[in-house]
Amino acid sequence: MKKTKVIIIGSGPAGLTAALYAGRANLSPLVFEGQQPGGQLTITTDVENYPGFAEGVKGPELMEIMRKQAQRFGAETAFKTVESVDMSKRPFKVVAEGEEYFAEALIIATGACAKWLNIPSEEEYKGFGVSACATCDGFFFRNQHVAVVGGGDTALEEASYLTNHASKVTIIHRRDQMRACKALQERAIRNSKINFIWDSIVEEVVGVQENGHKKMTGLKLKNVKTGLTNEFKCDGLFLGIGHQPNTMLFKGLLDMDSVGYLKTKSHSTETNIQGVFAAGDVADSKYRQAITAAGTGCMAAIDAEKYLTQLE
Ligand code: NAP
Repeated sequence: MKKTKVIIIGSGPAGLTAALYAGRANLSPLVFEGQQPGGQLTITTDVENYPGFAEGVKGPELMEIMRKQAQRFGAETAFKTVESVDMSKRPFKVVAEGEEYFAEALIIATGACAKWLNIPSEEEYKGFGVSACATCDGFFFRNQHVAVVGGGDTALEEASYLTNHASKVTIIHRRDQMRACKALQERAIRNSKINFIWDSIVEEVVGVQENGHKKMTGLKLKNVKTGLTNEFKCDGLFLGIGHQPNTMLFKGLLDMDSVGYLKTKSHSTETNIQGVFAAGDVADSKYRQAITAAGTGCMAAIDAEKYLTQLE
């Protein structure tokens, strides 16, 4: 059993910034890094919009710097995943890999993860052509033709990254207008390896068995305006259709919106339970930037410190 002042669940920019500030406030924060230590930036390549890095920085490198900076001020980081949380009384109890930990304050920074189309064939071909992470799997599609679904920033960034490996990248979008920022749209349109299929949805991933292995060979697409379907040949499918907050652990405990994003009080990181704070993408369906996550991580640590001072 271990007791500390603050436990932080999650280790993306929100969690590690909260750890930095809580460390500097002598709160001895303990960070549970979870299943994806460093969070979503560890599966991106160049981060060009995090202030302080004029030439950009690699996502994994940025997270390593943040972790070291937090540790320098006394934050303890554990490569463990939290299984349950008891918020019914203080100290709050956190169970990670069978062990119990207690803290007077909790900061929830569990982030969000990629959404899937939820069609049966997608599941069948996961790892055999279907992926939601271009930087993890793009390498396997050298000189091949891949499709990316979505019309937001994620889809366009994935598509742009994939052109480093693939010979051709087709973006399939369910409308005829993208919601991605103008800079990314223009970059994608200028890229001669990228082309677009508009007003279309993926109905099915199709493939064959080759030498005892499954291999994706294409997609069944449906044009949502004409209702016509066709089979589109490609070697890979990358999802870039948004994210789902990681809040399963807190269902029935913390207030959340209909999608599952945690609700916080206005201009604060306070949740509906006193002493429990939320920061980063887990409580932000709107901005979802590394810098906004870091900003709310800082706010959560300051809110936690004020709360703990009042308890004394
Ligand atoms: P998003 O903005 O919600 O875009 C999701 C895209 O996928 C939309 O174009 C949507 O279509 C489409 N889509 C959603 N569900 C679908 C489905 N079931 N089938 C087919 N298409 C589907 O998500 P995001 O691109 O992940 O971005 C989320 C937030 O993170 C945004 O605020 C974005 O600015 C930010 N972000 C920023 C950066 C950056 O600054 N470099 C990088 C990545 C993300 P509709 O357009 O028709 O709804």
